[in-house]
Amino acid sequence: MKILAVGRNYINHAKELNNEVPKEPVLFMMPETALLQKNKDFYYPDFSQEIHYEVELVVRINRLGKHISEQFAYRYYDEIGIGIDFTARDLQKELKSKGLPWERAKAFDGSAPLGQFVNKNDLPDVNNISFSLQKNDTIVQQGNSKDMIFSIDKIIAYASQFFTLKIGDLIYTGTPAGVGAIQRGDVLRASIENKELLSVKIK
Ligand code: ZN
Repeated sequence: MKILAVGRNYINHAKELNNEVPKEPVLFMMPETALLQKNKDFYYPDFSQEIHYEVELVVRINRLGKHISEQFAYRYYDEIGIGIDFTARDLQKELKSKGLPWERAKAFDGSAPLGQFVNKNDLPDVNNISFSLQKNDTIVQQGNSKDMIFSIDKIIAYASQFFTLKIGDLIYTGTPAGVGAIQRGDVLRASIENKELLSVKIK
């Protein structure tokens, strides 16, 4: 099982980090050990002083595919979930400035909390899904898949040119604006269409 993730898929988030708006999806991968499931606690790692949350819609692939066309991409997933792409922003800045790979900042153990999934048929429209992240008592991020630069189907088509997609693979589809730092003691709650599907306590 592999985890693909898309960077800079919302214009307002690309801008808040002073990144260019990409012409093609920015893809990276995380290992299975990045996953944090069943609302387990997240332990703040020693190697960073600036861990940021990024709430993202997550797609679970349900059949094998390569060179999938955008037109048929919808056949490759039934479920949409929600996750957080924890990022060691201090480390990422250092790696980016040196032109080095991101994995240590993005794909470390527990960096990818994953909540429950909903069937896409229970959602109004895959290209109009609202989602949000609450930190303690405040809503810190609100997004909608209609604002993605690259739609879910476009991401699947693009990614499958390079990587064979297999059953159970996950795609983190990028974060909207509002990313920010976490501290020990914080509780994060993520929802799709106002239904809470993930909660993580920071320890
Ligand atoms: Zn992300």
